[in-house]
Amino acid sequence: MTTTTRFAPSPSGELHLGNARTALFNWLLARRDGGRFLLRIEDTDAERSKAEFTAQLKTDLQWLGLAWDGEIVEQSKRGDVYREALERLAAVGRVYPCYCTPLEIEVSRKTQIASGKPPRYAGTCRNLNDTQRAAKLAEGRKPTLRFKVPDTGRVEFVDLVHGEQRFECADIGDFIVQRADGSAAFFFSNIVDDAMSGVTLVLRGEDHLSNTPRQLMIAEALDLTAPTYGHISLITSADGSPLSKRHGAKSLRQLKEEGYLPLALVNHLFRLGHSSDLHGLQTMEDLARGFDPSHLVRSPARFDPVQLEVWQRDAVHRLTIDEACEWLQPHRPAEVSDNDWRAFVTVVQANLILPADVTPWVQAIFGQDIALDAEGEAIIGAAGAAFFQAAASAAIESGNDWKLLSQKTRELTGTKGPELFKPLRYALTGQGHGPELAPLLSLLTPDRIRARLARWSAAA
Ligand code: GLU
Ligand code: ZN
Repeated sequence: MTTTTRFAPSPSGELHLGNARTALFNWLLARRDGGRFLLRIEDTDAERSKAEFTAQLKTDLQWLGLAWDGEIVEQSKRGDVYREALERLAAVGRVYPCYCTPLEIEVSRKTQIASGKPPRYAGTCRNLNDTQRAAKLAEGRKPTLRFKVPDTGRVEFVDLVHGEQRFECADIGDFIVQRADGSAAFFFSNIVDDAMSGVTLVLRGEDHLSNTPRQLMIAEALDLTAPTYGHISLITSADGSPLSKRHGAKSLRQLKEEGYLPLALVNHLFRLGHSSDLHGLQTMEDLARGFDPSHLVRSPARFDPVQLEVWQRDAVHRLTIDEACEWLQPHRPAEVSDNDWRAFVTVVQANLILPADVTPWVQAIFGQDIALDAEGEAIIGAAGAAFFQAAASAAIESGNDWKLLSQKTRELTGTKGPELFKPLRYALTGQGHGPELAPLLSLLTPDRIRARLARWSAAA
């Protein structure tokens, strides 16, 4: 049986790192086994689903490198399929209409909780006769359909991550499989589609673990083959609090806009909740080879922005010059030629984590004035005007040759080491650290170099 996995997002918001990891793991598994990775849009909830979220999540998946196989399944277009399957359930007596209003359900839930019972559907409509049903309808109530959970017995399955699971049927209330508006409920359409698409393995968030017995009951009642499930631990933020928008978690779109690279993200996600002895930045193919569902861990996985930066730095290093130019394009001043930009990017690439980090270098090379921070001012002040007089006159001979410039300045001033290099670096670039000065200075004209040094040569 070929491995078939899927990603089944509900388009009610933007993808965040949690769903991205779910998609990644399923993709990796399919890739590893030479199987198929399907994409299904779970948009039966018309109120919460938005077409722009569907469009955005396709863009996000493609950007991450998680291509899907075959046609996308959109649940909103499959009403007939679900209705037919519901009719089959009705034919075997496994569903019944429930006329309770949301308010009535809520009251019943609160009463149960108040009397110390776990809340579940009380079975109010389970045994109504035809006359009672007609009366409810006559009141204008729109029924949902509920699945009849057996009173006794249990559902058992082996979860890939959590091991053997056992749920008592008596603890599970009859649940809704069709909403009052006629649309299929999540539990139902989800398992029907998994079975119909031949999905063999589902990795999904731990929050779905308690849904699984319900879905297995539906599959059994319809004589469908259910997939094997693995419920992966949730991702938390570095301090252990839930990783949510409210806690400042960024969507994939935001991370992309900030300039995070897909390879950095997938390398971090690969190691969240999945232990691996793969070290260093890996390609998607390597990650697929190294993915092992038996290495999925139960404890919550912590998203670590610092670790992400480490991967990001590596991923930036690995960009080809064309890719790096493209990545930095938004920061390119309009007047800079292709060739100059390329030469510039070649020099600064290794010093960047995010595209915005290029700003001081763009300023240093293509801007007019050099802005100094307090440390820069202090270092320049300490070097003194005589130092810069010497440096400026050295620059007349050296032009933009850094080796020559530093050599001559050393000869003229008698300084060496940091006393020589730090003030020169600050005066020339406005920064205390950065790319090697030789290639950086080759991007500046001799005139500008001299002017930047001469600027500090007048006694205060
Ligand atoms: N639409 C569900 C979700 O986004 C899918 C759960 C599943 O993968 O089965 O949570
Ligand atoms: Zn009811």
